[in-house]
Amino acid sequence: MKIVSTLPELWQTRQELSGSVGFVPTMGFLHDGHISLVRAAKSMCDNTIVSIFVNPTQFSPNEDLDAYPRDLPRDFAMLEEAGVDLVWTPTPEIMYPDDFQTWVEVIEVTKPLEGNMRPNHFRGVTTVVAKLFNAVWPQKAFFGQKDAQQAIVIQQMTRDLNYPIEIVICPIRREDDGLAMSSRNTYLDEHQRRAAPILFHALSVAKEAFEKGERNAKELRQIVTHIVTSEPLTQLQYISCTHPKTLAELDTIGPEGALLSMAVYFGTTRLIDNIILKESITSSKQ
Ligand code: AMP
Repeated sequence: MKIVSTLPELWQTRQELSGSVGFVPTMGFLHDGHISLVRAAKSMCDNTIVSIFVNPTQFSPNEDLDAYPRDLPRDFAMLEEAGVDLVWTPTPEIMYPDDFQTWVEVIEVTKPLEGNMRPNHFRGVTTVVAKLFNAVWPQKAFFGQKDAQQAIVIQQMTRDLNYPIEIVICPIRREDDGLAMSSRNTYLDEHQRRAAPILFHALSVAKEAFEKGERNAKELRQIVTHIVTSEPLTQLQYISCTHPKTLAELDTIGPEGALLSMAVYFGTTRLIDNIILKESITSSKQ
């Protein structure tokens, strides 16, 4: 596994690769969710490139940029073990030199949900992912359903800017108790960690109601709200039941299904989670 930092080193190494390239952008402090994207890339592409970059422009001033957990030696060991070919660890100076003044912005699908709560977050995400794509030039790029809106925003950007890149969205990896894996889970204290699986529990109960025929979005939002707010350590920021592609808030869930998603604070730690509601092809509800 080769590790590079500067752009000329990356370009040189990229040029020497033959065959298709799968790319997994990350902010490091890796867990099995990230590694599941690496596995998907390895199964679909000849070469796998992973970037590790804690992107300052997607954090707002009151967010946790400086405190964001980092452990490069551990990350490298995990990526080596997973069989990654090339790791790129650019510095903030490489990605954002002093005179930096070009931004990539997706308009409509960045407005609701996370975009509503985190102003400029997606402008930072799309700008850095565009820059990563331009440098790595992969055939496929792998993103997690964990950040559902991010995946939709990146798909939109990829179409709008005519990148010849296929965006592959991989399922959410969870701990045994249902908590979605996240680098931010390390912020949780023992009590919060014990309470945190309530997010997935609430989404699962709503999904069960959906599977039994509930199509009223308000009812499903209420199911989640009721369960999450029953836990005193949580503070629900939003629960949303939207069209899975446009992210427009729904009254009634139609044949295209829905994305049920939320953000919840445990103290100062903000966790997000979601579940897709979709009628399975085999379920024959007449
Ligand atoms: P991050 O390092 O948090 O920016 O995440 C890098 C990529 O890993 C993003 O595409 C995330 O959606 C994805 N990811 C993070 N957590 C998970 C998870 N639990 N399961 C699957 N993918 C994940």
